Amino acid sequence: MKRVILTGDRPTGKLHLGHYVGSLKERVRLQNEGNYDEMYIMIADAQALTDNYGNVQKVKDNIIEVALDYIASGLDPNKVTIFIQSEISELTEFTFYYMNLVTLARLKRNPTVKEELKQKSFANDIQVGFLTYPISQAADITAFNATIVPVGDDQLPMIEQTREIVRSFNNLYGETLLEPKAVLSDNEACQRLPGIDGKAKMSKSLGNCIYLSDEPEEIRKKVMSMYTDPNHLRVEDPGNVKNNPVFIYLEAFCKDEHFVKYLPEYKNLDELKAHYKRGGLGDVKVKKFLNNILQEVLEPVRNKRKELEQNKEKIMEILFKGSDKARKVANENLKRLKKAMGIEYRNYCNN
Ligand code: ATP
Ligand code: MG
Repeated sequence: MKRVILTGDRPTGKLHLGHYVGSLKERVRLQNEGNYDEMYIMIADAQALTDNYGNVQKVKDNIIEVALDYIASGLDPNKVTIFIQSEISELTEFTFYYMNLVTLARLKRNPTVKEELKQKSFANDIQVGFLTYPISQAADITAFNATIVPVGDDQLPMIEQTREIVRSFNNLYGETLLEPKAVLSDNEACQRLPGIDGKAKMSKSLGNCIYLSDEPEEIRKKVMSMYTDPNHLRVEDPGNVKNNPVFIYLEAFCKDEHFVKYLPEYKNLDELKAHYKRGGLGDVKVKKFLNNILQEVLEPVRNKRKELEQNKEKIMEILFKGSDKARKVANENLKRLKKAMGIEYRNYCNN
């Protein structure tokens, strides 16, 4: 069986540290290991429109921003296919047929969708498009026969929904589709990076992000303003490292060599945590350490991004070339899907 990887991001803003550790880093690792046949990275503009249909310009403007973030982070268009979702009209056709396989009750049970609805205060008036976006994600994955999907943990319900659709389809129309698997980072802190405000998830919609393109001073300011343990008022107070985003970010980013370089009085994160827990270690010192690490991680990405920004036409060319390739694959698979369903009327009289 071919090893096909697919992931994507909504062009609702620039990419942030949550994307980086939750999915982007994993994609670059998989790309560089090279143990795959095809890898697709989708800029999910059509999905972004399900809750931004009134602000098409925002979605449009962010397509290039996301593409810049991808390539600056190490995705190589010569090795992976980067494409724009709405360029592949076949995907809406897949979605339409899959809609028959999912009940309204099932869609409403999706915990990520529930959470997002609460956040967006849609109240009782939910657009059908938004509610059905998990079905369109099943289309995105299966249209490319993808079986490996590197994501953050908020996407697990979507992958489960896709697996259910695949099983229903295969039961009804015969073995046609493959069940995908989510690939999470093995570092738990990376699976759902919290926001700088301490909210459970760093998310473009919540405005609690450190962006890959942030300038050094912005990064510093954001880190120094980060939410920590609210009960750790004085340096000598014992502190809590659980649910403390500063320590969660350190879990996600810090390596032992960072201690040698920036904080040599500790050997590793365990020692730093132990000191914080027993008291006597101030937040400012820990934040300064985190800032040094994040500056080191983000500097090369930001510099590469600035270089790429000089030639936006070239970036758009990459996206169109990727979209042309993706369309061919989705079209072939759509033919297979319709054949399995028995809706290929051109041969009607021969069957
Ligand atoms: P939006 O608020 O518009 O939904 P988002 O910040 O949630 O934006 P998406 O484009 O929905 O970003 O997510 C793209 C990918 O990045 C998904 O695989 C998602 O799981 C992952 N991801 C997003 N935020 C985080 C995070 N804070 N931690 C880990 N992974 C994340
Ligand atoms: Mg999201």
